[in-house]
Amino acid sequence: MISSSELDVIIVGGGPAGLCAAMYAGRGLLRSVLIERGVPGGELLNTEWIDDYPGFEHVLGRQLADLMTAHAVKFGADIRQDTVESIVRRDDGIFAVATALGQVYEAPSVILTAGGTPTKLEVPGEVEYAGRGVSYCAVCDGAFFKGETLAVIGGGDAAVEEADYLTRYAKKVYVVHRRDQFRASKILQERLFANPKIEVIWNKQVRELKGGPAGMQSVELVDTETGTKSSLAAAGAFIFIGFRPNTGLVKQHVVHDPAGYLITDDRMMTSIPGLYAAGDVRSQLTRQITTAVGDATTAAIAVEKYLADRKSRLAPKAQVGV
Ligand code: NAP
Repeated sequence: MISSSELDVIIVGGGPAGLCAAMYAGRGLLRSVLIERGVPGGELLNTEWIDDYPGFEHVLGRQLADLMTAHAVKFGADIRQDTVESIVRRDDGIFAVATALGQVYEAPSVILTAGGTPTKLEVPGEVEYAGRGVSYCAVCDGAFFKGETLAVIGGGDAAVEEADYLTRYAKKVYVVHRRDQFRASKILQERLFANPKIEVIWNKQVRELKGGPAGMQSVELVDTETGTKSSLAAAGAFIFIGFRPNTGLVKQHVVHDPAGYLITDDRMMTSIPGLYAAGDVRSQLTRQITTAVGDATTAAIAVEKYLADRKSRLAPKAQVGV
């Protein structure tokens, strides 16, 4: 067990938010550990080019991940590769963070930056053809579909951006959306509409993903207005219909929004004192790298103040003379 007398803060997750929190914790001379189940970088590792991080007009996701990791380590980040299984706040205000490798880390504060997992369509064939046509990551799997026809499902930033990316490999990309307009940002939509390899199929919901022994072959659709059924031949379906925040690690009730994202105050503290949330786990208007690192900066600095207040609250009160 790594005791609370040794740690000030435990950072859960090593994406941009976690790495930035670790950097600021180091600069604030907080004793911290960052626990990440894989290679640090989070969603940066699922993104090829990043064009919207100030100071970097065009940078590879994995390159930015390496730079952020090196920066955090320079300020003393202690990155442990392990999977957090539970976070519990005890009555004494100390958090016990248990991991798959059997460690229990203890500290008076936690910054949760565990990101999210892709939402599933939950249609027949999705599980069956996962890895054989069905994908949730264009950068990881796009190159397997050179010269093929693909379907992208969704109408948010991820779907619209990744459809554009997939056209570098695919000969044709259909974007299947359940409504007649995208919720994606206008600049991404403009890029998509200007791409001659992309065709948008409006008002269609996926019923089923069909295929054979070699993998997926078609996307079965239904029109959301008329109920008419149709079939779209495609060798792959890239599903981008949102993310589910990884908040299940916290074993007590935390106030969250209807989609499950944690609600914080302006210091990033959740409804559990000492538990902070930053990045994709947090309820907010948008989820960008810039907002993730902004959240993390606020959270790490707020933790410093929280710990100072806690220390003065717990210090023995001076006796007033008689
Ligand atoms: P999102 O914005 O929540 O969009 C999800 C899309 O999937 C919506 O168009 C939604 O349709 C559709 N959808 C949801 N459930 C569906 C279902 N069961 N069947 C069919 N369609 C379904 O999610 P996202 O695109 O993953 O983005 C998540 C966050 O990351 C956003 O805040 C986004 O701005 C950010 N992001 C930013 C960038 C960037 O700026 N470069 C890139 C990726 C992500 P409706 O529109 O009808 O609800």
